[in-house]
Order: sequence, then C-alpha cells, then structure tokens
Amino acid sequence: MEFHEIDRMAKKLGADIFGVADLDLLREYETFPENLLDSFDFGISIGVKLPDPLFDMLPDSRNLYSRYYVVANDMLDRIAFEISRAIESEGYEALPIPASKVLSDLHWRSYVSHKAIARAAGVGWVGRNLLLITPQFGPRVRLASVLTDMPLKAGKPARNRCGVCRECIDSCITQALRYSEFDDYPERDEVFEVDKCAAKLKEFASNPDIGTMVCGICIKVCPWGKLGNKTKGN
Ligand code: SF4
Ligand code: SF4
Repeated sequence: MEFHEIDRMAKKLGADIFGVADLDLLREYETFPENLLDSFDFGISIGVKLPDPLFDMLPDSRNLYSRYYVVANDMLDRIAFEISRAIESEGYEALPIPASKVLSDLHWRSYVSHKAIARAAGVGWVGRNLLLITPQFGPRVRLASVLTDMPLKAGKPARNRCGVCRECIDSCITQALRYSEFDDYPERDEVFEVDKCAAKLKEFASNPDIGTMVCGICIKVCPWGKLGNKTKGN
C-alpha cells in the first residue's frame, strides 16, 4: 500500500484528517511502554472532526458533546484498526493506538502523543491550549494513530500559527493555561496545570448527564475552529 491508498481508505472510513510522521523526529518523546516506538518507522495520524454546534453551543451542549466525543473516538479506533489490518495483510507491522486512552498513572498522558505525531506529520500545530490546531478545523478534531514499519512518505512538521492570540488562556474556566513564549511546541508543565483541568473534567464526568471527562471551552474559543463556520456556503 502507498500513502494515497491508506489516505483514501481512511477517508472512506470517515477520517477528515490524514498524515504520516517520520518517527525519528519523536524518539525522545515519552511513551508507554518506554520502547513503544522502537520497532516502528512511521506514525499515521488520523483525525475526525466533530460538528461545530457541539462547541458553539457550549456549555449548554456539554452533554451532547460528551456523547459524540465517545462516538468520534470509537470511529477513530475502528479506522485505526482497519488500517492496521490492511497494513499487516501486506506483511508489515502495524499497531493501532486508541483515540482516548489517558493513563492516570502517567499523569494524564497516553501511550504516545497523538498530537506530537500529527504535528510531525504536518497535520497541524500544538496551540497554547496544548491541543492540535488544524488549519481546516482548528482544535475541533479527535485523533488516533497507527505505528508502522511500512515505508511511507512522511510530511514535514507544522509551524505554530497561534501568533498573538491568547483566547484559550483567557477563557479557561479553571485558569489552568499559562502564557509562555515558545517556538513550536510548548512544554506542557510550563503552560498547563494539568491537575486543575483534570479536577474540573472529573467533576463534569461525575454528572450523570455528561458522564465523560470533557469540557470543550478552550476548543470552542479558538479562532481557527470558528473559521469553518465563516466559510460555510462560500
Ligand atoms: S478543558 Fe476546560 S479546564 Fe481544561 S484547559 Fe480547557 S478550558 Fe481549561
Ligand atoms: S485560541 Fe488562540 S492561542 Fe489558543 S490555540 Fe487557538 S489560536 Fe492558539
């Protein structure tokens, strides 16, 4: 299989975003287990966009957002699974990494950063809200990844395009985000108090009408996500 065949397969299964990262750019990143990337050369990044009103109507739409957050994650896991099976059938290794599997023992990190893979693939940049920001949909996407040793054409890392914006910092409901000067990739501990955010997400998850650790405000306010609304019908 070649890049465009996997891209086509992902889009047919419902992906809105697709890219390939050279994992040599990510070897120093923390993963679980530590040697997770050792047998793989490339990371495939897949993204699914959530409908705009789920964000535009927050906080009132938080229960709906929580439902479709789960639907989008399931969809991504299915796409990653199907792509992995297709790659394996060609005689290569492929490991799907699920869309939302936070490991609390790793202080709210996952097996590998989907955002780091997506950024290295050129799919988008990591914004001041520590989310992946795509030029098409801003942060209104969920991500999954597939690690593989199949030779693929990798993209180039995306440059940060937040500019002087600090909407997400000013709108965070727990003041968990901090401004910091950085070139391309913010250091999480410098810009984000994860415990403040996680406490609020746990509170939302304990509400039976929500039931999932979602907030969405720092997604809603990002101007790159609102751009999609402005260009509708043009
Ligand atoms: S998810 Fe909510 S609490 Fe967490 S950083 Fe974003 S706005 Fe703040
Ligand atoms: S709201 Fe502004 S600062 Fe925050 S991620 Fe979006 S563009 Fe960057």
